[in-house]
Amino acid sequence: MTATLSGKDLAAGIRADVAAQAAELTAAGTPPGLAVVVATADESSAWYVRSIARAAEKTGIACSVVDLGAAATPERIRAALDALSEDPAVHGIILQTPLPAGAVFEDLAASIDPANDVDGANPLSLGRLAAGLPAFAPATAQAVLVLLDHHGVSLAGAHAVVVGRSNVVGKPTAHLLLQRDATVTVCHRRTKDLAEVTRTADVLVAAVGRPELITAEHVAEDVVVVDVGTNPTADGGLVGDVDAGSVTGRVAGLTPVPGGVGPVTTALLLQHTVQAAARSTGRGTR
Ligand code: NAP
Repeated sequence: MTATLSGKDLAAGIRADVAAQAAELTAAGTPPGLAVVVATADESSAWYVRSIARAAEKTGIACSVVDLGAAATPERIRAALDALSEDPAVHGIILQTPLPAGAVFEDLAASIDPANDVDGANPLSLGRLAAGLPAFAPATAQAVLVLLDHHGVSLAGAHAVVVGRSNVVGKPTAHLLLQRDATVTVCHRRTKDLAEVTRTADVLVAAVGRPELITAEHVAEDVVVVDVGTNPTADGGLVGDVDAGSVTGRVAGLTPVPGGVGPVTTALLLQHTVQAAARSTGRGTR
């Protein structure tokens, strides 16, 4: 029997808290503001940005999309991030990917003031996270942990295997799991016999970007699987990094795609934005 570890109710609860805090901040004269910097014509990126903007407006957060065009130079992107970091009406800044050829995400994200870095993109934020210091974690990585907590999955002493080592998902997820006393293994393209490693997991996080890479041969019975993957399909849908059809019935729990990590990620971006706004007034804590 495989439990479906949905993120929808959890995300709705977070958004309701965010809306209450946003209303309080607005009444006190600090309406929270989020800015998304875009430098791509990528259609799935545009869809994601629209969904963040809609969710922000619904919770009372003003969201501006700064579209620099797919031909934007790194200098232009950096200048936009610098200007937003100086703008007192902007509390959260997101640098959307993909970026134009030649632009290095981490280099540019270093221009986001860590106080506004609501998606933990500045390498300083990742460094602080790794050192166990206060910082905004990338929302997707935090969503993995929040989802596991919500569904009562215990982490202390568990063997957590993370497939993927990107700076935005795999590595921060591994750090957050370590902070929770899991024993963490991180896998990547050069991992020898991936299935042999993943079969030893109590908790398996797939953050690969390869549609349905994780199949029944990669999972032991009773493992809890978090599928971070969001791979667009030809018919306009989404498929995860886990082959749900193949592992269902074998694993103890699986997050759905869509409806798992995705909505929680968006809700946490908004939560981080009201936290940043509250801190800007000197009232908030991280
Ligand atoms: P990424 O930067 O492309 O990183 C992918 C990682 O997977 C890399 O570390 C890569 O290893 C590893 N990998 C690729 N193929 C592999 C294989 N065959 N075996 C083992 N490891 C392999 O991707 P990302 O930005 O971390 O995103 C991962 C997935 O999460 C994507 O599907 C993305 O769309 C999704 N995502 C979802 C959310 C959400 O809110 N749900 C947010 C962000 C991202 P190497 O390092 O060796 O190359």
